[in-house]
Amino acid sequence: MALPRFQYHEPTSLAEACQMIQEYGETAALLAGGTDLLVKMKNRELRPQNIVSLVELEEIKQISVTGRHTSIGACCTISQIADSEAIRSVFPALSSGAEHLGSPAVRNLGTIGGNVVTASPAADLPPALAAYGTKARLKQGEQERFLSLDQIFRGPGATHIRKDEILADLHLKKPPKCSGAGFFKLGHRNALQCSIINGACYIALDPQTGKIEKARIILGAVAPTLVRASSAEKLLMGEKPGKELFLEAGMAAVGDCNPIDDLRGSAEYRRDMIQVLTSRTLHTSLNEIRKSIART
Ligand SMILES: Cc1cc2nc3c(=O)[nH]c(=O)nc-3n(C[C@H](O)[C@H](O)[C@H](O)COP(=O)(O)OP(=O)(O)OC[C@H]3O[C@@H](n4cnc5c(N)ncnc54)[C@H](O)[C@@H]3O)c2cc1C
Repeated sequence: MALPRFQYHEPTSLAEACQMIQEYGETAALLAGGTDLLVKMKNRELRPQNIVSLVELEEIKQISVTGRHTSIGACCTISQIADSEAIRSVFPALSSGAEHLGSPAVRNLGTIGGNVVTASPAADLPPALAAYGTKARLKQGEQERFLSLDQIFRGPGATHIRKDEILADLHLKKPPKCSGAGFFKLGHRNALQCSIINGACYIALDPQTGKIEKARIILGAVAPTLVRASSAEKLLMGEKPGKELFLEAGMAAVGDCNPIDDLRGSAEYRRDMIQVLTSRTLHTSLNEIRKSIART
């Protein structure tokens, strides 16, 4: 099916793009890779009269590392993230999320910004971003503000990003030495598969006692927005990591979710898998810590 008619605009700076979306208001839509937007336009779910393309904005296409701080431009493609050694070595759970998203063609076009703003409950990058405590920088004209990834979503397809704001980049802090994270995605096959469930776990240990001093468990496709499994996190805090504890945390995570039955899987299946995969991903996180200790 052909796309509905629209005016195409190609700003060459973020400032100009901000001006354009203010000027065109409700009639505008931002275009990054187009893998979500163009599908919705073809299906007549969206009919923007003005498309403001971000394709020429080199300033938001870079991954940059300054000291303990990493910034990922919103227009970095999923492939760029999956291929980045700077991301893989410090944020392996995010790297894994990018590697498992869609297919090579989708990863080459789709961007991290589009994956966040599209706000699909099953999107593959938000769980790891939230597990690492990422903050999104939003630009509105001269103004900017930051929103935490675990607070950015309002519902399926809806975020707290205003219509006249542009997601400029995502800011991550290098995790401390005794910390590790992992990502999981469950689908019916390995590629081109929307997640039945997905999620990411992050734990940090007190280097003196070896007990867990920070835990974040983020689950996707189990509720209208990302779920922070706070009762599972509470259970982990102050405890020595291990098999029994991780099994209990997996069980607690089930109680934090509200999955539905749909074409991809039943709520019951999702609940069973949350338990297994949360527990398994906590082990992955612990193994990451062991590997990093062995390297030093
Ligand atoms: C065949 C296929 C398979 C897929 N498989 C997966 C999968 O396995 N996992 C997964 O998570 N997703 C998947 N997707 C969805 C999609 O590819 C991703 O969500 C992708 O990251 C979207 O990025 P984009 O640059 O293409 O976004 P676009 O389509 O360009 O934009 C999406 C939305 O975000 C807005 N937007 C984009 N950038 C910004 C910005 N910087 N600031 C503010 N708003 C912005 C747009 O206005 C639009 O509303 C798939 C899509 C297809 C077509």
